[in-house]
Order: sequence, then structure tokens, then C-alpha cells
Amino acid sequence: MAKYKIESDKDICIGCGACVSMCPENWEMEEDGKAKALHEEIDEIKCNEDAKDSCPVDCITIKKIENTE
Ligand code: SF4
Repeated sequence: MAKYKIESDKDICIGCGACVSMCPENWEMEEDGKAKALHEEIDEIKCNEDAKDSCPVDCITIKKIENTE
């Protein structure tokens, strides 16, 4: 099964909240007004792809880090 690493670049994030709207199960806004993935390593991308696509400054990356198939 593949594993994925989800990251956002806080230097670029403008705190719009789109990722949280699209994927509240894995994104939250922090006290600094920037978004953070609750789980940075996941087995299934699920709505994180929607979060990535919704980001207006393209600061979310999803990388495949493991494939044990
Ligand atoms: S969608 Fe992008 S810019 Fe907006 S809060 Fe999420 S990571 Fe930040």
C-alpha cells in the first residue's frame, strides 16, 4: 500500500481556509492564521487532493513516500 506525505508551505500560505473547507478531516487553521495538515503521513489521499487543488497559491504538496505492493 502506498503512503503519502502531505505538506503545506507556511511561508506561502495566505490563510484563506479553502483547504479546511474542502478537507476538514485533515486540515485546520492554526493560531498563526496558516493551515496545517493534521496528519502529514496518510495511507489514502482522499480529500487532500481537493484541498491541494483548492489552494490559490499552490502551497500544498502530496508526495508518495512508500509503496509496499
Ligand atoms: S488553501 Fe492554501 S493558502 Fe489557503 S489556507 Fe489552505 S494552504 Fe493556506
